[in-house]
Amino acid sequence: MGFPQVTIEGYPRIGRNRELKRALEKYWKGEVSEEEFGAAVRALRQDTYRRLVDLGLDEDCAIPADVALYDHVLETALTVGIHTADSLEEEFVLARGNDERAPLEMTKWFDTNYHYIVPEVGGEIVPRPERVQKILNETDVKVRPYLVGPVTLLALSKGEDPLSRLDDVVAAYREILNAVDAEWFQFAEPALVADFAHVSEEELVAATRKAYGELDASRLFVSLPYGKAGAGLEALLEAGVGAIGVDLTDAGEAARVKEIWTDKTRLVAGLIDGRNVWAADLRARREVLEGLGNASVSTTVSLLHVPHSVEGEDIPADVVNKLAFADEKIAELVALQKGPLEAPEAYAQADRVAVKKKDVEVRIASARTPAFPERKEAQKELDLPLLPTTTIGSFPQTGEIRAARAAHRNGELDDAQYEQRLREEIAGVITLQERLGLDVLVHGEAERNDMVQYFAEQLDGFVVTQNGWVQSYGSRCTRPPIVVGDVSRPAPMTVKWAQYAQSLTDKHVKGMLTGPVTILAWSFPRADVPLAVSAEQIGAALAEEVKDLEDAGIQIIQVDEPALRELLPLRKNERAAYLEWALNAFRSVHAQARPTTQIHTHLCYSEFGEIIDAVAALDADVTSIEAARSRMELLEDLNDTFVSDIGPGIYDIHSPRVPGVAELVELINAALRSVDEERLWINPDCGLKTRGYAETEAALRNLVLARDEVLYTRGHEH
Ligand code: GLN
Ligand code: ZN
Repeated sequence: MGFPQVTIEGYPRIGRNRELKRALEKYWKGEVSEEEFGAAVRALRQDTYRRLVDLGLDEDCAIPADVALYDHVLETALTVGIHTADSLEEEFVLARGNDERAPLEMTKWFDTNYHYIVPEVGGEIVPRPERVQKILNETDVKVRPYLVGPVTLLALSKGEDPLSRLDDVVAAYREILNAVDAEWFQFAEPALVADFAHVSEEELVAATRKAYGELDASRLFVSLPYGKAGAGLEALLEAGVGAIGVDLTDAGEAARVKEIWTDKTRLVAGLIDGRNVWAADLRARREVLEGLGNASVSTTVSLLHVPHSVEGEDIPADVVNKLAFADEKIAELVALQKGPLEAPEAYAQADRVAVKKKDVEVRIASARTPAFPERKEAQKELDLPLLPTTTIGSFPQTGEIRAARAAHRNGELDDAQYEQRLREEIAGVITLQERLGLDVLVHGEAERNDMVQYFAEQLDGFVVTQNGWVQSYGSRCTRPPIVVGDVSRPAPMTVKWAQYAQSLTDKHVKGMLTGPVTILAWSFPRADVPLAVSAEQIGAALAEEVKDLEDAGIQIIQVDEPALRELLPLRKNERAAYLEWALNAFRSVHAQARPTTQIHTHLCYSEFGEIIDAVAALDADVTSIEAARSRMELLEDLNDTFVSDIGPGIYDIHSPRVPGVAELVELINAALRSVDEERLWINPDCGLKTRGYAETEAALRNLVLARDEVLYTRGHEH
């Protein structure tokens, strides 16, 4: 059977009204039985298939059945048999852990804000084809089973040399293909568009050649989302794979791909960008399609990364008609395949709203002067002790605070009452920190719903959605704001809170900002200007905020950049250009800061090895970084690359466990073996917003005690 003309790489699983989230959370809380949970997710799948058929994915095998309940990598690992679970409950223990078992690790999926579960290859591999067959049996719609492909599955797994298990894994995929009654299968192989630190391109290509040479390749649709395919594409073509999906939004890439294509394989042209939220220029895309000859159309990546539909959003009319979320993108694909003669209205509409790239120059921010050593001298006036203690910003977001925010949103609390409530919370957090004996205090971020949305709501040039939820992991969703124009700051955003907190204490209160790269990474960017341009504008807005904080008497300011690593391009040769604009934007935030103002930055989500030079080049005075779980392994690198102060996190805030004093002393001593004591800060790994007060208080008390003990044994009085 031929491959469908119109398809998509994938579709959001979470449900238009977050049905999957609700079902999962109810099941986890024991509010519904396994049967009721199963019925709810089946109903959601049926609903989704029906809707997709209505939208025009009505050919056989056009709809990918990515049926994961928690994550598609975990689902594939369970189907292939890298992990086994004897019950639904056990599946969720793999993902979430329980009292006895730690969960599998979770990390970011390629250069997106979606997190996948990292499989651990080790034991026997026993495939479970019935997991797939069951899904096919429950519907009359001829869907196409979706799995992560063998090469990507192993490239993303942990364990001793996972790729050495290729033979076993390929045998498992073969068994699944044999056992399951489906005309087409989809295997996603995004590993073939990325450069990895731990495995070379040659190894990946060799693995691809081997794996697809041994599978019934003519039934396979292998998709290559998230970037430009390299030599892996040639290997797939040689193996005679039935259909291959490639990103052809770049016309140059389309020409190259056409050149190497063979007749045996159906070309599935990724012509609609599945990650941005903007309507496409249909005429330009149609031109590329016509140049390809016989090709199907698809999205570049799974629509998992965009909200379901623009329908029902309350967004200004001039913006809303330029937007295309998942369902609107499917309509675009259908129009693209039909052409302007058959779908004149779609093209006429697209002509009115398509956004085209402008050429805009980015200003290079000047470096902050004086250089760090002189600033360090100037900042002695802050009068901080040796091994200063601090936290990363947020304190527990209690149920009461969330309830107050909800009451304010729906009008039960007026502005003044809500502000009063926040002031009480801030006062409580300051008192607590003073009681614990921390040195640099924070206001606790109680007023922030989210570290990006809070700023997006106050900056000009952003809109926020009401129902634009995107799955982040498991049942967690975020609602990324949309950058719709030039960004500027109409008024101070954080000063009022920092100033209030500072008025309550003689210690320094650290102002708290989210950096330009992170604001952009966790938003949907504009399509008409390069990211660098929006980053520069956000940087300028934050620089104004820094100035206002200084004028309000705040002498320590933290600019968080947890997403710096996430936006790093998958291809090595694109990284330098990215780091240039990213660093530029960050440095512009503090370039004009007074020498006596101490600028902190904070990064988390590990794996900084590759960008450690860039982190140093942010030129912050103090950098706090996640390190507790890796037990300070990172530090040797840090000491050589950095000249400024460093705060490797010693308390893993991802777990409710309270670390004991002895353990914390050991971590501090480990840090002191590679970092000079004049440069070391003592702090947790990340913000405390997801923790409860009881464990937070106990852990921070131990953190201060551990610091005091280390000072004492090193002969410093305190
Ligand atoms: N200041 C933020 C907080 O403490 C930082 C969050 C983050 O790094 N993800 O919540
Ligand atoms: Zn963090």
